[in-house]
Amino acid sequence: MSIRTPLMAGNWKMNLNHLEAIAHTQKLAFALTDKDFDAVEVAVLVPFTDLRSVQTLVDGDKLKIKYGAQDISAHDSGAYTGEISGPMLAKLKCAYVAVGHSERRQYHAETDEVCNAKVKAAYRHGVTPILCVGEELPVRDAGEAVPHTLAQVEGGLKDIPAEQAESVVIAYEPVWAIGTGKVCGADDAQEVCGAIRGKLAELYSQELADKVRIQYGGSVKSGNVAEIMAKPDIDGALVGGAALDAEEFVKIIRFRD
Ligand code: PEP
Repeated sequence: MSIRTPLMAGNWKMNLNHLEAIAHTQKLAFALTDKDFDAVEVAVLVPFTDLRSVQTLVDGDKLKIKYGAQDISAHDSGAYTGEISGPMLAKLKCAYVAVGHSERRQYHAETDEVCNAKVKAAYRHGVTPILCVGEELPVRDAGEAVPHTLAQVEGGLKDIPAEQAESVVIAYEPVWAIGTGKVCGADDAQEVCGAIRGKLAELYSQELADKVRIQYGGSVKSGNVAEIMAKPDIDGALVGGAALDAEEFVKIIRFRD
């Protein structure tokens, strides 16, 4: 297996109640084989209310599917009504947590500072952050996609030591491609993902940069995933809408077939 095992992650967003989550995870478990898990890592990022159900299934049947949450509080406990903390996610054995998804940045005004605090909270409790970055359409049209995205990477990783940063997952998700059906061209995605790796080398070291997995996200489907995954700096996909269809998500996971 290569140094960077591809991470194929489904972001369910605010979909699937806990019963639907069980049925969906069972479908994935039934379809996926050891051969799939030898080739890639598979994860689902689920609503908080689904975590216990997914954990019970994964633990009980010793499934190789990883799971995690879509957000984390920057605080570990206290008077933060409605928030879910790192210790709570760790107790549910979450492997991953998305930080700074564009829908969080857009609808909940999450800044790079907030994302940075959430990345730190995740690491405090042994949950691997998937730091989501990417530009809006006017930024791309202005030719600023790379510097904009690199600033988000730098802001999100501020004061994160190398021992932690080497395990971070960065998801490059151009905002205009999320849920719109408009996929970013594979060459354009590679340009930004390559620049992200360059930024990691500058912030830390080339050795660390070579270890970090960089995903692409934005209207990934079985029909376009192979072209995207063929790019040298793209090490996985963060899949929204298409991950809600178990058969389609399995096809995406099997992008090499
Ligand atoms: C996402 O939610 O991170 C995403 C990329 O969504 P979609 O695949 O639907 O564009």
